[in-house]
Amino acid sequence: MNDPTSKGVRLVVFGRQGAGKGTQATRLATNYGIPHISTGDMLRAAVKDGTAFGMRAKEYMDAGQLLPDDIMLGIIEERFGEPDAVGGWLLDGFPRTPGQAADLQRLVSQTGMDAAVNLEVPEEVVVERISSRRVCNECGTIYSVSDSSGATQKCAKCGGVVEQRADDTEEAVRKRLAIYNEQTAPLLDWFRAEGLLLEVDGVGDPDEISAGIIAEIDERI
Ligand code: ADP
Repeated sequence: MNDPTSKGVRLVVFGRQGAGKGTQATRLATNYGIPHISTGDMLRAAVKDGTAFGMRAKEYMDAGQLLPDDIMLGIIEERFGEPDAVGGWLLDGFPRTPGQAADLQRLVSQTGMDAAVNLEVPEEVVVERISSRRVCNECGTIYSVSDSSGATQKCAKCGGVVEQRADDTEEAVRKRLAIYNEQTAPLLDWFRAEGLLLEVDGVGDPDEISAGIIAEIDERI
């Protein structure tokens, strides 16, 4: 459980697929010295490890579908219980459904949250971005390729293989965008009503976007 007396920063980052959520989440977590809890990264790690759970998760992910809420709650509860999460955290990819939002509200009833960042990027822009997105299969660094020929690259940070995510096919992306619009976007209303929502224009220079977000969060904490 989180320590209710801790002054750590607690953030949620929203944004449709390709909005730059992972990139900005990584920078924010580093800036505030809090763990970056990315449910997508955790699930991809389980898939890579080849566990029975990972194999089940892969079926949902490759189809562009969400895993059941009770499974996601178990993952988040376990992660919140780890020592590094006591002093704050950044959630990337959770909550994603009304049920998950209710679970999160219950989990933070003692500690509260500091802000929910919504990276706003038009749908036409994200479809284009996702088709050129490549990810290091070792460290998760995200790259954008101008040539989408599929040529293999090496990660500049760790030397891992940089490849396209299995769920970045057009069909799976369209399904994920539709689910985002139907199930995740409505959650923003609750965060707005709580005065937690920071609306951020996600089109532009990533450094300027992070600087703007950090300045706004700093005013609130
Ligand atoms: P994206 O934002 O591009 O969909 P993520 O890396 O956040 O990518 O998630 C990849 C996949 O992992 C999702 O399509 C879904 O199958 C699964 N997933 C991640 N987070 C959740 C969640 N909170 N609830 C259910 N499924 C999730």
